[in-house]
Amino acid sequence: MKVLVPVKRVIDYNVKARVKADGSGVDLANVKMSMNPFGEIAVEEAVRLKEKGTVSEIVVVSIGPKQAQETIRTALAMGADRGILIEMDGPVEPLSVAKLLKGVVDAEKPDLAILGKQAIDDDANQTGQMLAALLDWPQGTFASKLEITDGKALVTREIDGGLQTLSLDMPAVITTDLRLNEPRYASLPNIMKAKRKPIDTKTPGDFGVTPDIRLQQITVSEPPKREAGIIVGSVEELVDKLKNEAGVI
Ligand code: AMP
Repeated sequence: MKVLVPVKRVIDYNVKARVKADGSGVDLANVKMSMNPFGEIAVEEAVRLKEKGTVSEIVVVSIGPKQAQETIRTALAMGADRGILIEMDGPVEPLSVAKLLKGVVDAEKPDLAILGKQAIDDDANQTGQMLAALLDWPQGTFASKLEITDGKALVTREIDGGLQTLSLDMPAVITTDLRLNEPRYASLPNIMKAKRKPIDTKTPGDFGVTPDIRLQQITVSEPPKREAGIIVGSVEELVDKLKNEAGVI
C-alpha cells in the first residue's frame, strides 16, 4: 500500500509571529521555518503504518520555495521513502494546492493521502476536503485514530459528546487531528540516511496547474494587548466592578 503525505513549510510554532509594520502580513524575514505540526502527525502515522507492515511506500510532497526541501528531508528522516518538491515562490492557496496534489495523486496512484487538518500559518482547513472533492474520494477528516483492516480505513473522529468512527473505502483522504499520535524526533543516523533518499523537483506547470490568487488579504493585525489585572479588596468590591465597570453581571 502506498501513502502520499503532503507537508507544508510554515513559520515554526514556537516563534512569536511579528506583523509587518504596514499590516500587509506576517514578517517572515529571518524567521525559523519548520514542518507544519499537523503534517508531522501525518508523517508519523504513515511511518507507524509502514512499521506495522501495512504500508510499503511513503511519498512526501511539499509545494513551496526551494527551502521546502528541508521540510521534505525532515519527513524522510522520520521514515518516509522519497519526496516530491513542487517548487514555486509566493503564496499558494488551498484550491491550487489541492489541484497540484490531485496531479501528484494521478501520477503516483496512492491508496491513501494523509494530510494535516490545517496548516498553522493560514489556518485554512480546506485542502484535504478540496482534494477529496477533486478526486471524488471518501474523506475522514480530523482523525484521532486510524486503523486499516480488510481494505478499509477506519477513522475515529472526536465530535461533540463522543467519538464517531467512519469506515472508508480506499483510496481515501484522511486529515490528522492533534491527538492522533506524538510525532518522533528523527535520530542522527536517520537524518544521515535521509540525505541519500531521492527528492524529485517539479513545477506547477508539470501538472498543468497555474496557481492563481483568488483571495485578497486586506489586513493583518496583532491581537489586542492584555491589560494588567488588579487585586480587589473584598467580594463586594469585585461584584461592584463586575456590575458597574465590566458590565458582565
Ligand atoms: P490548509 O487547508 O491550508 O489548512 O492545509 C491543510 C493541509 O494541506 C496541510 O496540513 C498539508 O497537509 C496540506 N497542505 C497545505 N498547503 C500545502 C503545501 N504548500 N504543500 C504541501 N501540503 C500542503
